[in-house]
Amino acid sequence: MKRISQPTVEPMSEEMNARRWQAVIDRDGALDGKFVFGVSSTGIFCRPSCPARRPRRENVTFFDHVLEAEQAGYRACLRCRPKALDGDPQSAQVRAICRYIEQHIEDRLTLALLATEFRRSPFHLQRMFKSALGISPKAYIDAVRLRQVKHHLQAGQSVTAALYDAGYGSSSRLYERTATQLGMTPEKYRRGAVAAVVRYTIASSPLGRMLIAATDKGICSIQFADSDEPLQQGLMREFPFATRRRDDAAMVEWRVNLTGMMEGSAANPSLPLDIRATAFQRRVWEALQRIPRGETRSYSAVAKKIGMPKATRAVARACAANPVAVAIPCHRVIREDGELGGYRWGLERKQRLLAMEKAGI
Ligand SMILES: [Zn+2]
Repeated sequence: MKRISQPTVEPMSEEMNARRWQAVIDRDGALDGKFVFGVSSTGIFCRPSCPARRPRRENVTFFDHVLEAEQAGYRACLRCRPKALDGDPQSAQVRAICRYIEQHIEDRLTLALLATEFRRSPFHLQRMFKSALGISPKAYIDAVRLRQVKHHLQAGQSVTAALYDAGYGSSSRLYERTATQLGMTPEKYRRGAVAAVVRYTIASSPLGRMLIAATDKGICSIQFADSDEPLQQGLMREFPFATRRRDDAAMVEWRVNLTGMMEGSAANPSLPLDIRATAFQRRVWEALQRIPRGETRSYSAVAKKIGMPKATRAVARACAANPVAVAIPCHRVIREDGELGGYRWGLERKQRLLAMEKAGI
């Protein structure tokens, strides 16, 4: 290990050193760039706001410039990177926060969570972020989400899928925001969007009217309702930027397969699905597809099955977001106490499906 030479003359006044030490204890980002401190026990030098554990005072030496610290034999800390920055140390951390937000956009991001992650008080983090970018972390999170939703919608993805990908909890929230945040009417926005073609059919099924919609890659939506109108409206809401074409003839085989599945005649027809899912939803939906016909599992059992025993509520949300009824058998997940729990297409339908499956029909 390189020997650390202690400066022979202490160039700073005691008062200045005391102020600097206080800044180190406070992790005061405002003094980043004004000085660095070397830690003799580790041989590393840091900026004042470094998130690493505070050293003992007697091991600390202050330097006005990075160069002096290096000349004294210290190496730059890899965490706070006192050398990386275009003169503005805070901006590096703000950039790191931005990257973190972008990489975790599917999660429930809060100021408190960011503060913990970056070891700052929520107040300090917010202030630093705002002074660097002019917007709050929350506004930045919203902007990233919106950008992602736009991107997915332009690619012809369904609204629900685009939403979940972008970390929005419920579709109603997107509808509230779309108009104001897209900054234009959906119609206008659509002109710039690639219009994917979604073909669909509506037919009778054991559960009432059934809509099947598909892209050229596979089935993207299976829904139930009492009449055709809500199905058509739902499809329009779900794929507002797609060209929707009714095509009963092209969907005959899938329709027969699906009703067969419900009635128990077709055991495992291979239905190509074209659905977008977050990594988490994919795990849940795959687990659902492994529940045998005629059986049910509780939400918590599914959570355990995917190795996330605490994620019961998230599992329930993933079930509720299932875009393809029956094909992904979210109806086979019920509450721990045997109650049916929820079903996107009505409890009566869930009950009827399960009864048909249990009776082995
Ligand atoms: Zn450091």
